[in-house]
Amino acid sequence: MTETKITLLLNPGPVNLSAGVRAALTRPDLCHREPEFAVLQDSIRQKLLQVYHLSPQQWSAVLLAGSGTAAVEAMLSSLIPQTGKLLILENGVYGERMTRICECHGIDHRVISYSWGEPIDTAAVTHELEIDTKLTHMAAVHHETTTGRLNNLTALGLLCRGRGIQLLVDGVSSFGAEILEFDTLAACAATANKCLHGAPGVSFVVVRRDVLAPANAPKRSLYLDLETYCREQDAHTTPFTQPIQVYYALEQALTELENEGGRRERYRHYRTLAHAIREGLLVMGIKPLLKADESSVVLTAYHLPDQLDYQALHDALKTQGFVIYAGQGKFANNIFRISTMGTITTPDIERLLVAFRTLLSTPQ
Ligand SMILES: *Cc1c(COP(=O)(O)O)cnc(C)c1O
Repeated sequence: MTETKITLLLNPGPVNLSAGVRAALTRPDLCHREPEFAVLQDSIRQKLLQVYHLSPQQWSAVLLAGSGTAAVEAMLSSLIPQTGKLLILENGVYGERMTRICECHGIDHRVISYSWGEPIDTAAVTHELEIDTKLTHMAAVHHETTTGRLNNLTALGLLCRGRGIQLLVDGVSSFGAEILEFDTLAACAATANKCLHGAPGVSFVVVRRDVLAPANAPKRSLYLDLETYCREQDAHTTPFTQPIQVYYALEQALTELENEGGRRERYRHYRTLAHAIREGLLVMGIKPLLKADESSVVLTAYHLPDQLDYQALHDALKTQGFVIYAGQGKFANNIFRISTMGTITTPDIERLLVAFRTLLSTPQ
């Protein structure tokens, strides 16, 4: 038998799994009504809070079956009361998705929209908060994966705190690596299979317990109601069947994160890899879309080189075992993206740069 060739995933999730996480997927079958399940679930919830050193008295990690969008939808549909109003800040695909979620659920909202890649201008946000006194919540994407921009949550958190506004964050592509100042947040939605290096299928919302709705408040969703999940998970059970194997993988991934030095170490590792790619590509004339200090360490967007279209670049790199990621929407024809989440090492990046160099020096 030939050895299976590993394709390196440089897309922003799902990510390459470690051997330990992959092995965890084949642990023994388990019924979600047995005490072993409760132990597994309690452990994951406690470890998720531990990533940012949050107290379980004040915070709850609520687990959901589904991709990152399920967590974002659960957060928005569960935390804004019928009388509330949300200010959504958009500067990419994921901010725009939050607006669509609000439209689906009939959540009263207002939007400030910036071009993709542009920073959020806090003066405009302040103005909006001043003219619309009905606003009770604000939603923003932390790392806007569309462009790699890391939005400044610190500034938004301060604006919210001064006015009693609850800040809800899509941290799907930053939780586990980037800094998140939870003392300025009401909730953060995230997923197992991005910076945490688990398998796809489980997502979660880390929510301040005092902002969850009372059990008898009107609900917008049956399946995605955070209060229901939180109450049942606190009682060591689950309202619905959970993806047990994906739970196993997430628990293992969180143990490995702890053993590797936690969130800070993951941040440093991503930064080292991202820096090596940025410098290596720059030498070949490939320029990043954003400056390093505006970009996350998780993903960087690059302008496509003149002589190559995205598909040609993607296909040539894929034959060498690398999967890169396209731009979305209006960026489809002029950028490509490289993420460094997953079990990626410095030698992997050296091989990637060799593949780029070979490709660019070969006449197309
Ligand atoms: C990946 C991602 C999501 C969710 O995508 P899913 O495909 O539902 O997992 C949401 N927000 C951001 C910022 C993301 O990067």
